[in-house]
Amino acid sequence: MLDQKSLSALNKALKKLDQGFGHLPPLEHGVAGMDRLAEVLGTTAERLKDNYPYFHPLYAGQMLKPPHPVARLAYTLAMWINPNNHALDGGRATSVMEKEAVTEIASMFGWKNFLGHLCGGGTMANLEALWVAGQLHPGKTILASEQAHYTHGRISGVLQVPFESVPTDKLGRMNLGALASRLERGDVGTVVASMGTTATGSVDPLREILALQSKFGFRIHVDAAYGGYFVLTENLAEEAKQAFARIGEADSIVIDPHKHGLQPYGCGCVLFRDPGVGRLYKHDSPYTYFSSAELHLGEISLECSRPGAAAAALWATQKLLPLVKGGEFARGLECGRTAAMALFEKLRADSRFLTAFAPELDILVFATRGASMSQVSALSRRIFKAAAQRDLHLAVAELPVHFWEENLRGMNRDRETLTCLRSVLMKPEHLDWVEQIWALLSASTAEILGGGTSHAANPV
Ligand SMILES: *Cc1c(COP(=O)(O)O)cnc(C)c1O
Repeated sequence: MLDQKSLSALNKALKKLDQGFGHLPPLEHGVAGMDRLAEVLGTTAERLKDNYPYFHPLYAGQMLKPPHPVARLAYTLAMWINPNNHALDGGRATSVMEKEAVTEIASMFGWKNFLGHLCGGGTMANLEALWVAGQLHPGKTILASEQAHYTHGRISGVLQVPFESVPTDKLGRMNLGALASRLERGDVGTVVASMGTTATGSVDPLREILALQSKFGFRIHVDAAYGGYFVLTENLAEEAKQAFARIGEADSIVIDPHKHGLQPYGCGCVLFRDPGVGRLYKHDSPYTYFSSAELHLGEISLECSRPGAAAAALWATQKLLPLVKGGEFARGLECGRTAAMALFEKLRADSRFLTAFAPELDILVFATRGASMSQVSALSRRIFKAAAQRDLHLAVAELPVHFWEENLRGMNRDRETLTCLRSVLMKPEHLDWVEQIWALLSASTAEILGGGTSHAANPV
C-alpha cells in the first residue's frame, strides 16, 4: 500500500548531497546501537498503524491529503542538513528556495512586487495577516463570516482586536446584506473573505465585497488556506470563478501548501500585496529594505526558527508540478472537484438523501431524510460508523438548518443545526473511486435506514 520505490531516488540524491561536503575532514558515522535503533523504529511503525488510511481514496473525510513523494523525499533529504529558515546563516540554500517558491505562489494571484513567506500553517499565516491588519487600523473591528475558520475569532482575541461575525446566506457564503448594514454602522477596519470555507468549501463573494470596499474603505484579507490553489482550475461554477478572478485585489492572502499544495504539515504561506507592511515587523528598517532582493526571512516573520526542509519540499514539488493553469497540478484539483460534483449528483438523485447546495470546490455535505432534525442528526452519526466499518471514511459536520432550507419538506425543525456527513474529495484519485465510494455509502445507508439500496429519484 505505501510507496517504497521512491526511496531509491532518495539514496541517489543523498550521495549527491554528500559530495558537497566531501572537502571536510572525515567524520565517523556508525550509529551506535543500530540494532536498538531498528527495534525502536519497528515499534514506532507498530504505533503508527493506529491511523485512518489518509493516503487512500477511501479516506474521504477530513482535509487530509498525502504529500507528493517528491515533497516527502526532498523534506527528508534536507533533514540531513536540518536548515533553519529563520535567517540566512541557518538556511542559506533553503531561504533562496523559499523566496523562489513563494514568488511562484504569489504569481498565481498576479503579484510580482509583494511581501510573503512560509510559516507553520494557516493559523500562523492568518495571525500575521490580522496582526498587520490590526496595526494598520488600530481599534477597528475585524469581520469574518459565521462560517469562517474559528481561528479568526480566536486570533482577534489574542491580538485584542475587536471581532464580529457576519451571518452567512443559505449557500454558506458571507451574507452581503448583513455585511453592508454592519459596514453602515462604521468602525470596520478589515473584512476577512473565506475562499473556501473549511466546512463546505463555500466561496465568499469577493467581487461584491470589493465593491463595498470602494464605498466604505476597509482592508480585505482573503483566507484561502484551503481553496487558494483553485485559482488555477477551470471547472468552477460561475460565481466562484468570478471571486477567484479578483483575488489579486485583496490586501493579504493566506494559502496553505500543506492543505492542497501536496506538502507535509508545517507549511502555510502569508502574502501581502504591499511590501511596505514589512516595516511593521521591524520598526527601524526603511521600506526599501523589505522590497529588496536581499530580504532576510527572519525580519519579516513572526516565527523565528522554521524548517528549511519545508521550503526544499515545496520548491521541489513546484519544480515537478508547476503552478500553472492546465498543468498536471491544476488537473489534479479539477479531478477532485469533478468527483465531488459526480457524488453530489448521485446523492441528489437518490430519495434517501438530503443535500444542501452543490459543492463550490471539492467538499460536499449531505444527510438522509428523516422525521426531524434530531433524528437525521443521529442517523448521520450511525452512517458515519457503518461506512467506517466498510473502510469508507467520511466526516461529520454541524451546519445551520437554513443551509438545507429548500429540501426540508415536512421535516420537524427541532434543532438549529443539523449533524450531517461531510466528504472532502481532495485527492486526484478520488475521481476514479466515485463509484466505489458511492457503492459503500449506499450500502452503509441501507444498513442504517433498512430497505434496499436502489431508490427512486428525489421528487424535486
Ligand atoms: C485549515 C484552515 C485554517 C487553519 O489552518 P492550519 O493550517 O490548520 O493552521 C484557516 N482557515 C481556513 C479556511 C482553513 O481551511
